[in-house]
Amino acid sequence: MIPRPGSNRPFIPQADPALQYRRHKEAIDLAIARVLTGDHYILGPEVEAFEQEFAAFCGARYAVGVASGTDAIRLALLGMGIGAGDEVIVPAHTAVATVAAVERAAALPVLVDIEADTYTLSAGAVADAITPRTRAILAVHLYGHPADMARLLSVAERHGLPIVEDCAQAHGASWKQRPVGSIGVAGCFSFYPTKNLGALGDGGAVVTNDARLAERIRLLRQYGWAERNVSTIPGDNSRLDELQAAVLRVKLAHLDADTELRRDLAGMFTRTLRGQVGTPAERPDCRHVYHLYVIATAARRDFQDRLKQLSVGTGVHYPHPVHLQPAYEGRLGRRGQFPTAERACESVVSLPLYPGLQLEEVERVLGAVRATGVGGA
Ligand SMILES: *Cc1c(COP(=O)(O)O)cnc(C)c1O
Repeated sequence: MIPRPGSNRPFIPQADPALQYRRHKEAIDLAIARVLTGDHYILGPEVEAFEQEFAAFCGARYAVGVASGTDAIRLALLGMGIGAGDEVIVPAHTAVATVAAVERAAALPVLVDIEADTYTLSAGAVADAITPRTRAILAVHLYGHPADMARLLSVAERHGLPIVEDCAQAHGASWKQRPVGSIGVAGCFSFYPTKNLGALGDGGAVVTNDARLAERIRLLRQYGWAERNVSTIPGDNSRLDELQAAVLRVKLAHLDADTELRRDLAGMFTRTLRGQVGTPAERPDCRHVYHLYVIATAARRDFQDRLKQLSVGTGVHYPHPVHLQPAYEGRLGRRGQFPTAERACESVVSLPLYPGLQLEEVERVLGAVRATGVGGA
């Protein structure tokens, strides 16, 4: 009997990008062959088609493919004219890429604390952090749950500030039926292999409804070229290649179904684990896409060790808030300044949850969590 993809894994890893390839192997192999025998390897017809399909998926007019999620944020900010001397508000609890991108645009990241239930930035903390130099609010839809867009939009509107969405973990998530990425001025996506829509290498995209912004990002991603060899503005090299775009097109066609699978799995996890450990919240007006299924426990080291002995992999997203990492400590914040982010970093654990996880594996993961006997945070 041919094993089903994902079955017979003695150890269940927290993430398994190769499984996402095996699930769509035939179509991906065909797509790759099509690119290899075509005559474009970078910024060709696959990228153009993917940009149109991905813009439609996000309910936005334009999508511009770039080299990574970090570059999507950096080029969106640069495209909006944000740079040296400008402040951009970001959560203290996020992938460090969010903050790195702001600094690479030469702007100053101003960190704020998060909400304890969704781990996304606190609108109250954002309001308190606004200064005359603030130029944007960078809302991160962490773990796949939309940030509190109702309150963030009202703060942003009151101060005349744009919201840029970091959607690197939230492809297909929505707030009030509005897909993330189309709510703010720009939505920045990563296609890093483990993301909900993952390539076989690096990739990213900015989506927007603003034609001028889309055009500026198109210029920025390739030496400022409006036409070949004519640089109209100083640009950069941050292009998406044809192989990645072709693979992404195959996977995009399955993304809605994959998201439903993630949500079904998350429902099963939460029903079983609620009461034992802290389980993820989902606000009523939001669609959480569970890029990561994150629980909270006061005994994280024990919990992870026990699960490892039981052949279940875990991850920590993230063990250190941005302001306590050596590159940023003392410069972007001090210990004690963002207590909710600091507490989250001590208690969060990501469990294996992704399309292709078999029911018997779900039972093994849940059984192992119960067998740890470890409680919540
Ligand atoms: C992955 C990620 C990024 C960066 O994406 P890359 O493609 O790795 O550069 C940015 N923000 C968040 C929240 C992420 O998870």
